[in-house]
Amino acid sequence: MEPLPGDKSSYICHKGHEFIHTLYHFPTNCEACTKPLWNMFKPPPALECRRCHIKCHKDHMDKKEEVIAPCRGEKGQNKKKNPENHIVRFFNN
Ligand SMILES: [Zn+2]
Ligand SMILES: [Zn+2]
Repeated sequence: MEPLPGDKSSYICHKGHEFIHTLYHFPTNCEACTKPLWNMFKPPPALECRRCHIKCHKDHMDKKEEVIAPCRGEKGQNKKKNPENHIVRFFNN
């Protein structure tokens, strides 16, 4: 399978991630095995989640390795911005 860097419409769903095929020509490390995920001339097939932006080798997906943590969603979106049950009560004793 040839990676299609220009094709942003197709993605791989895995543990909540939405992985997009990509290639890295600048220094970056795989978040699953911490090994280099890039090469200046011939980068290895890589995947990046468009939700949490985790990066990993495509090999981990191809081999169905259990090294990828579940998606945490978009960064900074874990905390509730507007708690709905924010009720202040006043007691006069
Ligand atoms: Zn993700
Ligand atoms: Zn890796």
